[in-house]
Amino acid sequence: MTETQKDPFAAAASFNAGVYGTGLRPVRAERLAEAARRLLQAAGSEEEEAAVVADHLVEANLRGHDSHGVGMLAMYMPAIAAGLLRPNRHAAVIGRFGPFLAVGGDSGYGQVIAREATELAIEQARQDGLAVLSLRDSHHIGRVGSYGEQCSGAGMVMLAFVNVVTRPAVAPHDGTRPRLGTNPICIAVPATQATPALILDFATSAVAVGKCRVAMGKGQEMAPGLLLDPQGEPTRDPGVMFQDPSGALLPLGGHKGFGLALMCDVLAGALASAMPGTPSHQDSGRVMNNMFAIVFDPARGGNAQWAADLDDLVAYVRDTPTAPGADAIQMPGEPETRTRRQRLADGIPLDGATLAMLDSLGRERGLALGDLLA
Ligand code: NAD
Repeated sequence: MTETQKDPFAAAASFNAGVYGTGLRPVRAERLAEAARRLLQAAGSEEEEAAVVADHLVEANLRGHDSHGVGMLAMYMPAIAAGLLRPNRHAAVIGRFGPFLAVGGDSGYGQVIAREATELAIEQARQDGLAVLSLRDSHHIGRVGSYGEQCSGAGMVMLAFVNVVTRPAVAPHDGTRPRLGTNPICIAVPATQATPALILDFATSAVAVGKCRVAMGKGQEMAPGLLLDPQGEPTRDPGVMFQDPSGALLPLGGHKGFGLALMCDVLAGALASAMPGTPSHQDSGRVMNNMFAIVFDPARGGNAQWAADLDDLVAYVRDTPTAPGADAIQMPGEPETRTRRQRLADGIPLDGATLAMLDSLGRERGLALGDLLA
């Protein structure tokens, strides 16, 4: 195992705020999407692809996950130039066997490939009640919750397990060196009359790598208990994730998060895609995601009253006094909905490093994006 692999995320962490300064600036979502669309088209995407990817990235910003927002373009643009990410590719069905649906992505934009693969799974679940999706060979799919929302919006439940194949970032429980990706999990359930869609969507690491990039851009330290330095010692410095050799993120919740991260790689990597996060796959300098997902129609799950039972459960769980500092018990997905409402009204607060990065990527392609980012 080599300990000095190329880190594609480092590109996004290497920009200096320069004239944009160290504070945060609010940018309107539609202007940010327009800037991202222009960049993506200049990098070879057809109009529709540019719109899908830009909208996905800005939606991640709107929902408060800046780690998976427009900052990702700093990683995607060099990946295209290096031939590791291939624009204008589409999801292709590789095979179907009973409920199993295998889809390939031809190293295309994950935001397009995973969206199309999820649509195929939804269509199958509409017809047969169930689809077991294996998505393989897709570049980074971004915020996994967006595919959960796609399913819940279509009235379907989704359970998704994703592996991240790139330089490893997460130490195993009781380990000190990175061996696993931040392997995210998403569980999405459709809205009922009383309850908004439940969208549980998180990395199985104590924190996402992108959140270290965002903290670095803001010149902030991370909370204690999240990171190890390259010597395996606890640290709060997000920069250790972008050094060579790098530090490591700790798994979410000790052995439990480690177990979940491992199972993401077992299901999405070893079983579904033949692309587990082992050195022969991690070493390429690219960021690939494979996804194992179960998509089903809750109406065919055995309880015709599921929505009423879900509402009762949620009402009961909410009915507790809140802890000091909390104003309400929130269900998974609610913090994102709140942040989205606020950011649509006030703009998306972007740090100087991210703004400088977008500006610089634009200049390299002969685009003047300054007005859109002002
Ligand atoms: P996070 O730690 O912010 O957790 C988000 C989840 O917790 C959401 O479901 C949210 O609704 C819920 N939540 C947050 N606060 C809550 C509260 N107070 N009460 C109730 N529920 C609450 O997420 P993260 O681990 O930083 O992941 C961020 C994003 O990164 C996700 O969208 C994930 O899909 C994405 N990601 C993608 C990859 C990839 O390779 N594509 C890898 C890792 C993470």
